[in-house]
Amino acid sequence: MYDSIVIGGGPAAVSAAINLKILNKNFLWLGAASSKKAASAELVRNYPGLPEVTGRQLMWAFENHAGRLGAVRRAELATAVYDLGGRFAVAAGTETYEGKTVILCTGVSAQKPIEGEEEFLGRGVSYCATCDGFLYKGKKIAVLLFDKAFEHEAEYLCTLAEKAYVMPMYRGCGVKAENAEITVRMPAAIRGGLKAEKLVFADGELAVDGIFVLRASVSPAVLLRGLQTEGGHVVADRQCRTNVAGVFAAGDCTGRPYQYAKAVGEGNIAAHSAAEYLSGQGRA
Ligand SMILES: Cc1cc2nc3c(=O)[nH]c(=O)nc-3n(C[C@H](O)[C@H](O)[C@H](O)COP(=O)(O)OP(=O)(O)OC[C@H]3O[C@@H](n4cnc5c(N)ncnc54)[C@H](O)[C@@H]3O)c2cc1C
Repeated sequence: MYDSIVIGGGPAAVSAAINLKILNKNFLWLGAASSKKAASAELVRNYPGLPEVTGRQLMWAFENHAGRLGAVRRAELATAVYDLGGRFAVAAGTETYEGKTVILCTGVSAQKPIEGEEEFLGRGVSYCATCDGFLYKGKKIAVLLFDKAFEHEAEYLCTLAEKAYVMPMYRGCGVKAENAEITVRMPAAIRGGLKAEKLVFADGELAVDGIFVLRASVSPAVLLRGLQTEGGHVVADRQCRTNVAGVFAAGDCTGRPYQYAKAVGEGNIAAHSAAEYLSGQGRA
């Protein structure tokens, strides 16, 4: 069992990982992808000591620092966190990892969930090709692709499904499969009864057996049922503690301002708070 599981691939997660490493904690770092948001700033003017750095350079320096300490991000998307009372199980791909604490550094997604997406999650809607793909062997599926990094997962799904409607939300989709129909379309809603049955578009509907939503983030509220959120942000105190004992949150996911310095500062605090929590557990 890990002392901590860090979820995220941006500055907050890097900072939490660096500090857990320095604190000699045994931790797992799950980050679906290196933060595209953090790398996208053309010029960062407010990061102390680096007056002319780009987002890409800053992110490279952060990750290089973590790597030099031996903190390695595993490129996996966490799809669920289960509170087992004193420990947590985190699902990612086909694996489940256990940790005594969890540090959420998921950022905030610019993409709002599709209407019905969260309602039907686990009932015909899946975030994980490798976990749920086999359920749709020989069936008709829709794959909503929000990130090029997941094209191999879409191709894997095509090897199982009878027919796959692949909908990239970006230009230049490279998915290749004979049974894939690639169309750039954004559904307005997912509808169904006991399970998801169809995608609804402005100009019609598409009936499918299953819907895969492949993006590089899962929001904290979907990850962990019972986590207190407000206005789309995790409610956390100045020690980065959430309402769930043992779960900490850092970075953009805790609210504005959305800034690198705040993210790395909170990543630091969350790591120290997790260490303090662990030593308290040891004394109990
Ligand atoms: C164009 C632009 C310019 C900017 N300029 C500045 C600036 O000049 N100065 C400044 O201070 N800030 C700037 N920012 C803001 C800054 O980039 C963010 O505040 C910072 O990246 C927040 O870091 P974070 O780690 O909290 O979240 P993010 O950087 O958003 O990282 C979140 C990461 O978590 C991963 N993730 C999410 N869910 C999961 C999951 N379930 N499992 C695994 N991984 C997951 C995502 O893939 C992502 O990698 C800018 C942002 C943009 C978009």
